Amino acid sequence: MIQSAGKVISNRSVKPGYYLMAVKCPAVAKKAKPGQFLTIRCGNGTTPLLRRPFGFHRISASGFEILYERIGKGTAFLSGLKPGDEIDVLGPLGNGFAIPRGKKDFVILAGGMGVAPLASLAESLVRIKKAEVCAIIGARSEKALLCEGHFKNIGIRTLVATDDGTCGKKCFATDVLNDFLEAKQRLRPVIFACGPGPMLKAAAHISKKRGLECHVSLEENIACGVGACLGCAIKTRSGYKLVCKDGPVFNAKEIIW
Ligand SMILES: Cc1cc2nc3c(=O)[nH]c(=O)nc-3n(C[C@H](O)[C@H](O)[C@H](O)COP(=O)(O)OP(=O)(O)OC[C@H]3O[C@@H](n4cnc5c(N)ncnc54)[C@H](O)[C@@H]3O)c2cc1C
Repeated sequence: MIQSAGKVISNRSVKPGYYLMAVKCPAVAKKAKPGQFLTIRCGNGTTPLLRRPFGFHRISASGFEILYERIGKGTAFLSGLKPGDEIDVLGPLGNGFAIPRGKKDFVILAGGMGVAPLASLAESLVRIKKAEVCAIIGARSEKALLCEGHFKNIGIRTLVATDDGTCGKKCFATDVLNDFLEAKQRLRPVIFACGPGPMLKAAAHISKKRGLECHVSLEENIACGVGACLGCAIKTRSGYKLVCKDGPVFNAKEIIW
């Protein structure tokens, strides 16, 4: 884990309320892997006091991108940053996605902003020889649907579900996952999921029923980000674990939902 100054390269709105920020920060980027996260000091004074956590959306040798939704004080501060501004970055934090050796079939399941850290994972998966990757993205509506073009551009079959039917199928992303697995019974894909708790719980249930490996990245509230405050403890089959330090990625069958 490194605390470093990052330089904002670009910071633009990709859809109303959603932003993509590219940051030059080789010290952190060189050590980062998909599924890990960083925390950013989102202000120049004492408010907000806590750093805000974000997944690595894309990673290169010289820096990274974060894809974020403007929600409150911290993300409002970020959305106002201009190219050339400096930010205080701490990372990489957490464990990241472990890609099981020898596997070739993968499903990426994203709900809402959970899609953000799955883009860098997708880029790693498509580099695996003969890998078959399918992305299923769920969002409230077309207005909140992100990354569909990105997944398609890197050659991934991409299926979309929206709650209101404004794009893709009118259903939950986990309904699409069920249909996909039903139609491809001979496949034994590893599922990587990130999104709201109920979606992850449903994905855990589906994968358990079908005997599939499933890794979930939890979006628990994180305060310190380094395992000191114990504020992000969750119950697992091997006792309490900290989302920030032992996660945010867990094998779905380890979690007591
Ligand atoms: C490991 C991890 C990775 C994340 N990655 C992304 C990402 O890539 N893109 C993205 O848009 N968001 C991501 N988030 C959520 C993001 O951290 C919050 O949206 C952000 O902290 C809100 O800050 P704020 O000051 O703008 O809003 P606030 O006004 O502080 O909070 C508004 C809402 O955000 C929630 N929130 C606040 N702080 C946190 C926190 N520390 N962790 C989780 N939820 C919080 C609160 O429950 C509240 O409902 C991630 C969260 C975690 C834990």
